[in-house]
Amino acid sequence: MTMIQDQIEAVHTRMLQACMTVGRPASAVSLLAVSKTFGPDAVRAAHQAGQLAFGENYIQEAVEKITALRDLPLQWHCIGPIQSNKTRLVAEHFDWVQTVDRLKVAQRLSAQRPAHLPPLLVCIQVNVDGGPSKSGVPPEDALALARAVAALPHLQLRGLMCIPEPTPDFVAACTVFERARGLFDALNQQGFKLDTLSMGMSADLEAAIASGSTLVRVGSAIFGHRTYPDGH
Ligand SMILES: *Cc1c(COP(=O)(O)O)cnc(C)c1O
Repeated sequence: MTMIQDQIEAVHTRMLQACMTVGRPASAVSLLAVSKTFGPDAVRAAHQAGQLAFGENYIQEAVEKITALRDLPLQWHCIGPIQSNKTRLVAEHFDWVQTVDRLKVAQRLSAQRPAHLPPLLVCIQVNVDGGPSKSGVPPEDALALARAVAALPHLQLRGLMCIPEPTPDFVAACTVFERARGLFDALNQQGFKLDTLSMGMSADLEAAIASGSTLVRVGSAIFGHRTYPDGH
């Protein structure tokens, strides 16, 4: 077993424990392995441990990796901010986009999704804690954006995602995650059929699972510490 395989197993154990604590079935929560800054070999090691879904933030880096790993049956999620001039690459290479927060980007993704591929699966990113520098639609605008996105022909709206400011306080983290959960439930009451609530990372996946997350996005707890090309 490689270190990456051990760490995936450890993350599954944490997820299972978090589910058991709140009486949710283990099958209710899936793992997205966030492989940004790590190369194709790290992804291959994770795949050897049974991991199929991977998240990437930086489009150019992701496209190189996706291309290098075409021999594996992987599912790729875009979880980084998307500039308008990158939508074509995203539409052509990814299976999911979790960071839709503007109609213009959604329209471009739909228009640029190649006809031979299935619809691009999307989550609307919601800014649940009002952080000033954050991407994400304000919660009060989520319903209107969801309606507009759901009407686009080559996108399939699957859920919501959020990236709240990290806090070490479990109860405070749950309070913020529960806002996303409330919005998710409200949209489903409006007739949407959302099945994906993407929230929780290495440090706060327990709070996210307690609050209803169906997909945790875990990077460093699987692949280790990241070093960015520009040194931050
Ligand atoms: C990097 C990143 C993650 C993973 O963060 P870790 O703390 O390393 O688990 C999850 N979601 C998003 C949107 C990210 O950018």
